[in-house]
Amino acid sequence: MITINENFMKLKAGYLFPEISRRVAAYQKENPQVRIIRLGIGDVTLPLPAAVIEAFHKAVAEMAEAKTFKGYGPEQGYDFLIQAVIENDFRLRGVELKANEVFISDGSKCDTGNIQEIFGLENTIAVTDPVYPVYVDTNVMAGRTGPQNSQGCYEGIVYLPCTPANQFTPEPPREPVDLIYLCYPNNPTGAVATKEALGRWVEYARANKAIILFDAAYEAFITDAAIPHSIYEIPGAKEVAIEFRSYSKTAGFTGTRCAYAVVPQELHAYTRAGEKVAVNPIWHRRQTTKFNGVSYPVQRATEAAYSAAGKRQVRALVDYYMENARIIRTSMEQFGYCVYGGVNAPYIWVKTPNGTNSWEYFDMLLKEAHVVSTPGAGFGPAGEGFLRLSAFGQKENVLEAMDRIGKLA
Ligand SMILES: *Cc1c(COP(=O)(O)O)cnc(C)c1O
Repeated sequence: MITINENFMKLKAGYLFPEISRRVAAYQKENPQVRIIRLGIGDVTLPLPAAVIEAFHKAVAEMAEAKTFKGYGPEQGYDFLIQAVIENDFRLRGVELKANEVFISDGSKCDTGNIQEIFGLENTIAVTDPVYPVYVDTNVMAGRTGPQNSQGCYEGIVYLPCTPANQFTPEPPREPVDLIYLCYPNNPTGAVATKEALGRWVEYARANKAIILFDAAYEAFITDAAIPHSIYEIPGAKEVAIEFRSYSKTAGFTGTRCAYAVVPQELHAYTRAGEKVAVNPIWHRRQTTKFNGVSYPVQRATEAAYSAAGKRQVRALVDYYMENARIIRTSMEQFGYCVYGGVNAPYIWVKTPNGTNSWEYFDMLLKEAHVVSTPGAGFGPAGEGFLRLSAFGQKENVLEAMDRIGKLA
């Protein structure tokens, strides 16, 4: 008899975005004349930069000629892209990396989801709450948790509430945990971690022989010069942290797929007997066995994002979304809402007024302003009482959405 991995049955069926779609579709069906504006999405809307498209076309043409055709490439990525990453994303910020510490991949969702399988099942996981659901669900699938309780938390996971009181950047827990997921700039709260806050996490990880998984998918949106872009800007972090970067939100690659993980040579985990084991060769072994690399044209297209023109064009995309973020943040403040984020991240985290819960306020905005948001409760129990508004979208739509919300008061 074939049995199923019953850990999958502990998962709540993909609840948040399907439920949003269901409510939006039902409302639109009853009100076909209404133009609904979506500020709920976490997907980019502007096309790929011209420099990226040009390199993409050129690489596709290379695939059409026997002389320049490429078959399987190195599983961990082509050296031309790895060198561009090391030079632009790290050396320019004073961080030195070796080529074999960078692993090019087809996305940070896959990387942050896959990485847990190289660590023991007995590890205690800590996540911020609210949280990007991938970190939690992949650990549930692996069997590191019990069932979900009535508060929506899985038994065995340490949840670190992110609230206005801690500026959405929790302190390390009192109890020892082994694997810590941090995402800054944060989805969904739009918060950032200062050098000091990250420093306390690095110190904690070093003292507790823990590892930090640092998701920096939104680093390009940082505008405050004092905020670190990489966890490796913190001294000693290479010994305790893996960093994930993605071109999805930065360069518009959500449908093109390219990202990378950094696994430093200095990073160690332990056998149950306490013997030190380097993590880098283990991740290399995992990737070369289960992954066959990102396509050559996509890696060439990604490399072009680091050319002078590419950098300018990527900056223009980010600036466009951040202008939307500014409009949303300042408008909502003007209307009397209590808002967070939107300065170093494309997300604005809005307190729902008068104690309404996040689904009630979601429904109100949909029905009264015809604006789609994302209920904070969908990201974890501590997201209750908040809504996420996304800056990804057309500026005209953002302006109209703000106009409509302003008229509600
Ligand atoms: C969008 C996003 C990513 C990027 O995922 P890709 O698979 O690279 O598209 C990673 N982490 C967070 C928190 C995100 O919101």
